[in-house]
Amino acid sequence: MAERRIPITGHTELITLLATPIRHSMSPAMHNAAFDKLGMDKVYVLFEVGQEGLEDAVKGLKAMGVRGYNLSMPNKTAIIPYLDHLSPVSQLCDAVNTVINDNGVLTGTSTDGEGWVRAVEDKIGSIKDKKIVLLGAGGAAIAILAQAAIDGAKEIAVFNKKDAFWDRAKEKVELINEKTDCHVTLHDIDDKKDLRETIRHSDILTNATSVGMKPHEDSCLVEEDDLHEHLLVMDCVYNPKETLLLKRAKNKGCQVQSGVYMMIYQGAASFKLWTGEDMPVEYVKEQLG
Ligand code: NAD
Repeated sequence: MAERRIPITGHTELITLLATPIRHSMSPAMHNAAFDKLGMDKVYVLFEVGQEGLEDAVKGLKAMGVRGYNLSMPNKTAIIPYLDHLSPVSQLCDAVNTVINDNGVLTGTSTDGEGWVRAVEDKIGSIKDKKIVLLGAGGAAIAILAQAAIDGAKEIAVFNKKDAFWDRAKEKVELINEKTDCHVTLHDIDDKKDLRETIRHSDILTNATSVGMKPHEDSCLVEEDDLHEHLLVMDCVYNPKETLLLKRAKNKGCQVQSGVYMMIYQGAASFKLWTGEDMPVEYVKEQLG
């Protein structure tokens, strides 16, 4: 990381992230690099805040006139009662990762799905009319589902285990079918034949489960033979940068995209909402290595 060139002054503005545990986050490196590159007198700092302290933290940040902040687990849904407005995507996915404070009026949105769409569109152009297989129905998956449906994907097949996420996934699939033109279906990920057949007829496969993440980087939900060379394979997992899924996809001749780009683009979307400026994404990519 380059050293900060802009000194902290009496005018320095704070942007923050409220979550716990969160010390591992790459967001400070990303946003501070961007502020510095653009000569903005702002600083991005993390605070370990969970649901118990959230209401007080929100009141405090509002009283201090802080322009905006991010939320991560466990606060993405818990923040909603404290906000004045919710974006269309947050209304569909019940999650907020970005708050914008306009003179005391707080608006929440989720940029995770937008980050995913932009990372995919870097590789294949528009997602409009595409058929997507989405592995997972947790926080990241539902944000992607909502944004991809709003942005004109044709069909999204959501595959998940019949675990604690299943009932909420059913509700969300119904809601998104009702509110958008996208055709969404929910499938059991343990039905490997159904998964293989659905992938065969799809344009994009994305993993939005935690499978493949360190320290379980030798795990993967699909076999190399399930893939085909016309598929774009995107993994939301960004640690490791090249997951086993992406390795299998490369071997099969698929286009691939790493979760690092989703992470950078969700940050860029939040950055634009707070500052009105485009994040210098290429510079940030270099800085994050
Ligand atoms: P979550 O806890 O909300 O959801 C976890 C999901 O994984 C659920 O769908 C669950 O059913 C599934 N799952 C867990 N173990 C499984 C298994 N053994 N087999 C099949 N499915 C299994 O988590 P989340 O916040 O949605 O995050 C999911 C992943 O996405 C994490 O790796 C996270 O780091 C990543 N993520 C990346 C970005 C990014 O910007 N690149 C953003 C958000 C999340």
